[in-house]
Amino acid sequence: MENLDATLEEALGKVAACEDEAALKEVERAFVGKKGAVAAILATIPSLPPDERKDVGRGANELKQKILQAVAARAGELSSATLEAERKGEGFDPTLPPARLATGSLHPITLVTRELEDLFESMGYTVLDGPEVELDHYNFEALNIGRDHPARDSQDTFYCDEEGRLVLRTHTSPVQVRAMERLDPPFRVVAPGKVFRQETTDASHDHTFHQMEGMVVGKDISVGNLIGAMKTLLRGIFGKDLDVRLRPGHFPFVEPGFELDARCPFCSEGCSVCGRTTWIELLPCGLVHPNVLRAGGIDPEEWSGFAFGLGLSRLVMLRYGIDDVRHLLGGDLRFLEQF
Ligand SMILES: [Zn+2]
Repeated sequence: MENLDATLEEALGKVAACEDEAALKEVERAFVGKKGAVAAILATIPSLPPDERKDVGRGANELKQKILQAVAARAGELSSATLEAERKGEGFDPTLPPARLATGSLHPITLVTRELEDLFESMGYTVLDGPEVELDHYNFEALNIGRDHPARDSQDTFYCDEEGRLVLRTHTSPVQVRAMERLDPPFRVVAPGKVFRQETTDASHDHTFHQMEGMVVGKDISVGNLIGAMKTLLRGIFGKDLDVRLRPGHFPFVEPGFELDARCPFCSEGCSVCGRTTWIELLPCGLVHPNVLRAGGIDPEEWSGFAFGLGLSRLVMLRYGIDDVRHLLGGDLRFLEQF
């Protein structure tokens, strides 16, 4: 029993002397650990006279509880002392750099879109937006795409209702019609955005991709104006003058309609990007069909215009050397973190 008192006194003294948690753990282990002082006392019990065993056993357990309480109390004091010291600036270095926050990056489509918007705005264009869920009227009818046109086939178009009145827009061209309704000519507009086609996806097709529509309406607009604007556009995108050529193309909302090709900016003798032809098929364009001007409330006798539909997704792929369109909207961070 004397041994118990002496052990308690020694333990309390050592606990009170601890200045940090590590030292406290050490003291705790020395007294109440498996091979500690209390365990040693308990181990002597079988060798004691029978009438002393019970008292010593109870005393040892009380000793253990008292030591544990003292350890807990001291741990509390130490942690509040640490906080107090930190509050005073002790043991705390305010010049250490903070943990780095993970930041995102702009999507390559956003990067190219912003660049093109700046470029077109510098050429006097207004940037417009339009709904992605569009009325059939704007997506087809007002663009001279009649009821029987193959573009309206449900294999190409996502219809949003039973009546076929609402569609996910299949191109950014409906913004042309909305622009004509809202603006008085002359005007120049571009409209970047998402478009949707019901397509089987592969490396060069996705069900969702990006376009940028452009439209200029004014007096005596000719194919010459169109070519001039496209060359300026290419210089802005690729940083150098590129030759262009027009091939006839048929789109219901332009007359005449063209496919505009540009000289491959990556080679002079053919490469994998241009399919060894040195020409890159860039965009459909043309002079706005009189029916489309009329549908937008503009008199085709007085005004004329040109329109083009830039494949933004394709342009982004060309710019950054991306070989699969599905990377763009795949959401894979390993891809996105590269920009
Ligand atoms: Zn090439």
